[in-house]
Amino acid sequence: MSTAPEHFDVVVIGTGPGGRAVAPELAAAGRSVAVIEDELVGGECPFWACIPSKTLLRPSQLRTQAAHVAGVSVPELDWSAIRDYRDYMNSGLNDAGKADWLGGVDGVTLIRGRASVPERGRVLVGDRELTCDDVIIASGTHPAIPDLPGLDREQVWTNREVTSLSEVPASAVVIGGGPVGLEVAQYLAGFGCETTLLERSDRPLVREEPELSAHVVRLLEEHGVRLMTGTSVAEVRHHDGGVEVTTEDGERLDVERLIVAAGRSPRIDGLTPDGVTVEHGHIQVDGQCRAADGVWAVGDITGIAPFTHVAGYQGRVVIDTLLGRERTATYDAVPRVVFTEPEVAAVGLTAAQARERGMDVATETLALSGTDRTETYGRGLQGGVGAVVDRSRGVVVGAWAVGPEAGEWIHTAALAIKAEIPLATLQDFVPQFPTFNELWGALWRSM
Ligand SMILES: Cc1cc2nc3c(=O)[nH]c(=O)nc-3n(C[C@H](O)[C@H](O)[C@H](O)COP(=O)(O)OP(=O)(O)OC[C@H]3O[C@@H](n4cnc5c(N)ncnc54)[C@H](O)[C@@H]3O)c2cc1C
Repeated sequence: MSTAPEHFDVVVIGTGPGGRAVAPELAAAGRSVAVIEDELVGGECPFWACIPSKTLLRPSQLRTQAAHVAGVSVPELDWSAIRDYRDYMNSGLNDAGKADWLGGVDGVTLIRGRASVPERGRVLVGDRELTCDDVIIASGTHPAIPDLPGLDREQVWTNREVTSLSEVPASAVVIGGGPVGLEVAQYLAGFGCETTLLERSDRPLVREEPELSAHVVRLLEEHGVRLMTGTSVAEVRHHDGGVEVTTEDGERLDVERLIVAAGRSPRIDGLTPDGVTVEHGHIQVDGQCRAADGVWAVGDITGIAPFTHVAGYQGRVVIDTLLGRERTATYDAVPRVVFTEPEVAAVGLTAAQARERGMDVATETLALSGTDRTETYGRGLQGGVGAVVDRSRGVVVGAWAVGPEAGEWIHTAALAIKAEIPLATLQDFVPQFPTFNELWGALWRSM
């Protein structure tokens, strides 16, 4: 250690969606805050996750939508222009703008380097020693790489390489039928890559309602993605120009790229001082996101719900708690959107989860054709909505939607769940004609 410890009221570790919101607000409330970042200021989301993936999905989304509209030619895709726009959206993987902004906030000190927390109230970064009253851990995750025979970590693509790709591979195997694998498979296929998606379970999005998975199977087929379920990779052999992937079924797939989208590993090394509980690699927190006295955790590291909006929400809960405002985090109405075309969205509990909690469950579904809005988009569009109601309380506890922009209108159901709006009120709800929100009105009236 070079010098005497520097003291801050709060030290935040990580500047992703979890960490970055916290520092300016605490500083505005008069706290001295140090923020430590090991890689790019902004974390995973703007550079290698949400933003580039949604940017890369949009061109083929538009193309698919155009194909349904009478009298409209299907637009051509221009990869170099798409790549330039992606580079603009991910700032060319340059965090100078974000770092200047965060480091320039009055009361915030931005420190580059990897932090460790040897004990509560003490943080080490490089040759600096910091002391603090509170430390907020927002260190996120990195891609989990499965331990497969023959797999060379340096040669496979994770979300980082596949969102910053400069050329589209001719062919690829994507491991993992969760949201990341589905989005990647769809945009690669949209750019002409011959794509195979491997999912170990018997259906993609295995944690969601089976109806949702059925829609996903159909949309993958429509986009030319080959889906193999109930199997995974038995062996990998890298060779000049590509990789041979042997599935557990014994099929050999010779492709240019192997892409791993098989979950995330918490970045926890050196960040668990005495008193912090870790389960399955995640820091356990209470309703205020407190991990121990003076230690807080927000974002993916908590393992509660791996989304940017949840990381930001948990950050707001910690801010309020530290500033003496009473607040408890609840996660009953957090939307989960897969930005494929059509979009696949869910919120709250599945019917099975509601039954496990002892609820008196009623479910109902409605096809996308239940609103006139659908045919104004074109003919033959597939999708629908579903809801799970707790009959004894007369409230909606879960919902899903598949359709154009479903990631937008799932929020009607999310708010109904969050506010526990009585079913009778929802049945009296008058949505605008013709909109996709009419599906919710019709669905709730049928329950
Ligand atoms: C391909 C992909 C697409 C996604 N799309 C969406 C989406 O559309 N919508 C959505 O809501 N979510 C999406 N997500 C999830 C979203 O990216 C994460 O939930 C979000 O980034 C989590 O924020 P975080 O602050 O917890 O962690 P991160 O964003 O991972 O940030 C953590 C930061 O902490 C730093 N750090 C770690 N350890 C240390 C240390 N010891 N010292 C100093 N710094 C450290 C890291 O360098 C990193 O910058 C996507 C994820 C992926 C992979």
